[in-house]
Amino acid sequence: MFQRLHSRLLLSYGFVIVTALLIVALALFAFAALSGARYLQPLQQLASISSSARYELLRVVQSGGGLRDLALTLQQTAVDQNVRILIANTNSREIIYDSDPSQNWLGITVQNVNTPTRLFSAAQTNAISGLFEHPENGSRWLLYGEPLANLNRFVIFYAQRPPTPLSFFREYFFRPLWGAGIIAFSLSILLAFWISGSVARPLQQLAQAAEAVAQGDYAQQVTLAGPQEVRQVASSFNSMAAQVSQSQQVQRDFVANVSHDLKTPLTAITGWSQALLDGTASSAAAQQRAASIIYNEAERMARLVAQLLDLARIESGQMTLAQTAVDLRQLLTDVQASLALQAREQGIQVTAVLPSVPPVIGDPDRLTQVFTNLVDNALKHTERNGRVHIQLHHDDAKEIVVQVQDNGNGIPAADLARIFERFYQVDKSRTQQFPRGAGLGLAIVRELVELHHGRIQAHSEVGKGSLFTVYLPTGER
Ligand code: ADP
Repeated sequence: MFQRLHSRLLLSYGFVIVTALLIVALALFAFAALSGARYLQPLQQLASISSSARYELLRVVQSGGGLRDLALTLQQTAVDQNVRILIANTNSREIIYDSDPSQNWLGITVQNVNTPTRLFSAAQTNAISGLFEHPENGSRWLLYGEPLANLNRFVIFYAQRPPTPLSFFREYFFRPLWGAGIIAFSLSILLAFWISGSVARPLQQLAQAAEAVAQGDYAQQVTLAGPQEVRQVASSFNSMAAQVSQSQQVQRDFVANVSHDLKTPLTAITGWSQALLDGTASSAAAQQRAASIIYNEAERMARLVAQLLDLARIESGQMTLAQTAVDLRQLLTDVQASLALQAREQGIQVTAVLPSVPPVIGDPDRLTQVFTNLVDNALKHTERNGRVHIQLHHDDAKEIVVQVQDNGNGIPAADLARIFERFYQVDKSRTQQFPRGAGLGLAIVRELVELHHGRIQAHSEVGKGSLFTVYLPTGER
């Protein structure tokens, strides 16, 4: 029942309103009970009865009427005004007349009339007014008495039972409190709808957008609206949707690239094996050529599959690295030796400056893969008679620095920032003379270096050559 925001808001507003009204009602009730305010209005009423009866009584006295006539007039006033009228002796204050048929005030002395309402007593200086307690039965009465001008031997008292705090509260405070409650509640209904609308509307929009993303429509952006917290959620949703959309795109591109890079060698393999089968490649030379192409393309596929496996392992966190102390001086010497034949065939001179450095902690096979790839790239992109130089440093920052520099064709500035992306290749036609890669080599190199808590940078100038620098932390801490 109270699942929706506006009903919850209404519930809480209602609770606050009722609590506030209860507190106010309690305070007002205490005021009604403890202050003399509830006597003020009845005393004023008695005063006004007294002043209007006064003329009538004076008329009776002036026309020679006796106490009996006075009593009759008073009797009539008592009935008409619904008050009790008493006559007391001015000096002794003893009651000599009681309009009530029970007559039980006769003989009582009216003393100790407390005036709880100072305001009232100050205004009526000549009168005896206030709260009086019947000395015998303890009943409490409000009295207002004034001596009759020509007959000031007597004081005429007008008496009434005082209102209870509850009746006073009911008469004066109940309706205003009700009214305040109704107005506050109506306002809170409007407020609840307004606030819940401003929160719920953007949330509903978000829910719809999230639903659309769940259905595969990733191009979702919601407008930022509502309170700051909701805006924050919307903004996080937008960046999440953008991220999901981008990674979907990356995945699609990845699949397209992989398919393309697998299809090309497969087509060549199928074509050339067909030629062998149907006898199109009949001469020994043609057969030799077909076999060598099939071999090269199969190797290319194997290399690509190995690279894809590496990436998949890195991505899923399954690439476990050995944690051994690796002597980079030895490792780079081996890399240089393993590529020496290839360098000689290409007519490229490979030099190295390999001082002794502290060991790095890592996987020797994977580090060999990193530097073989960098030196291999340098060889692929350097012309005959070119130079490739390997340099090992140990700087003060507890890092080992390995640089692989060539004076090959270099990389245009626009491509340099992207060469570590998967499948990114600088002008594919440039590498035609070498067995073509798939643009995954440097992506894997960077991942491997980062798995070793290191980093890699590339500098290059077209026509002058490239410099790849790998920083690896030493095992020293
Ligand atoms: P691949 O595996 O296809 O060689 P890489 O990821 O290793 O791809 O390299 C990405 C791109 O960077 C390649 O297309 C290549 O043209 C360029 N590149 C890498 N190393 C060098 C280098 N030493 N000199 C010039 N270009 C290079």
